Amino acid sequence: MTKVTRFAPSPTGALHIGGVRTALFNYVYAKQNKGKFLIRIEDTDAERSTREFETNILKGLSDLGINPDELPVRQSERSELYQHAVKEIIESGKAYYCNCSKERLDEMRAKQQSKGLKPQYDGKCRNLNLQADASTVLRLKTPQDGELIFHDLVRGEVIFQNSELDDLILLRSDGSPTYHLCNVIDDYEQKVTTVVRGEDHLSNTPRQIHIQHALGYPSLEYAHLPMVLGPDKKRLSKRNAVTSLQDYFDQGYLESSMINMLARLGWSKGDKEIFYIEDLISDFRIQEVQKAGAIFDSAKLDWINNHHLAALPFDDFMQKLIPFLKIVGIDYTQKGNSKDIIAAMRSSKPTLLGVAKDLAPYFSPVDSYDEKAADKFLRGAESVLEFVQRKLNSLEVWNEKSIDHALQEAQTALSLPTPKLNQPIRIAMTGSTQSPSLGLTLSLFDAVEVNHRIDAALKYLANQH
Ligand code: GLU
Repeated sequence: MTKVTRFAPSPTGALHIGGVRTALFNYVYAKQNKGKFLIRIEDTDAERSTREFETNILKGLSDLGINPDELPVRQSERSELYQHAVKEIIESGKAYYCNCSKERLDEMRAKQQSKGLKPQYDGKCRNLNLQADASTVLRLKTPQDGELIFHDLVRGEVIFQNSELDDLILLRSDGSPTYHLCNVIDDYEQKVTTVVRGEDHLSNTPRQIHIQHALGYPSLEYAHLPMVLGPDKKRLSKRNAVTSLQDYFDQGYLESSMINMLARLGWSKGDKEIFYIEDLISDFRIQEVQKAGAIFDSAKLDWINNHHLAALPFDDFMQKLIPFLKIVGIDYTQKGNSKDIIAAMRSSKPTLLGVAKDLAPYFSPVDSYDEKAADKFLRGAESVLEFVQRKLNSLEVWNEKSIDHALQEAQTALSLPTPKLNQPIRIAMTGSTQSPSLGLTLSLFDAVEVNHRIDAALKYLANQH
């Protein structure tokens, strides 16, 4: 049978890391089984669902290449389908109307809680044969004893006691279908075979299976994924600094890095760390997903992004970098050797925004020096700066090799340890102590500019006194 999976987000917030991971695993599972991947917008909660969030979710997924095989559907547009299915349940006698008031239910729950029992509907209306009116809800006649057992691809056999399960509400008093009912009907109507979702839905599964039974639907395959946790081992949230997918794109994490990082949230393959989507389609095994919570580690994401950036051919890297150059105000077309500069600096930081910021001093004058670096290396380095400046000014050929040679001669002549010679020059050129090898760094500027920047550093030092 063709496997059909679905990602079923509720558009009540922007696409977050846990959600994308669920979408990715659904997508990969469908693709590796030559099946179909669907998206369903679960927007029955009209108050909290918005079209903006829906657009944000769909765009985020499409940016990552997680595209559905059919147009996404919206639950808010499928009410006829639900009403039709509800009729069948009512006719089969597997549901009943209940007119218990809120007050009665509150009192009942309070009593149960005071006896240390789990609060649940006591079945008062179960056999009263009430008819629908404005005060009734429709409840499922859930079996009262026995067990509900299902096999989970991640967790193995999962057992729930029916006595623990409520007579679930299927229709609210205004006649609108509840979340569980829509979810079950849609999975059936969309011919879904496999439900891959977060572990927070595990306790919904027995309830939904009872609805399937009442409707005579076939069983589904389930995989409940471990929760994604922050470094503090708490569930991922804005509080532990991990926000929406777009925030990562805005900093210049590549789509492929995000996919790689998401895949590793709860799944691994030996000590292999780098995966592209096609690797996942061949290597991923849903049965290998771990049960324990998966920790999102931003240092790991940096490491992964560094790797993915380094693997890009130069022209592709450049195309990805250009929007970030614009953000930091760099016009790379103004210099003839922009490509050399960018090639030398491309792995200076783990994100494209970081690299673009590091490129700024190569395209515009240094307007300030890193304070700590200046304190440590620039202060008192006047004679070093002057000596090297003279040496460089006397060069007839200006390239990395001749510059390296001049620097070596200067170091021997002054008999200084390398940092004492190199760092003041580096700071003069870029404002900080971070740059490629000094010879290469200097060769990225022309001799006049180098002279000029050393002058500026000397002037800065003179003004310090
Ligand atoms: N709409 C649910 C959510 O956003 C997902 C339900 C499901 O996957 O079955 O958490």
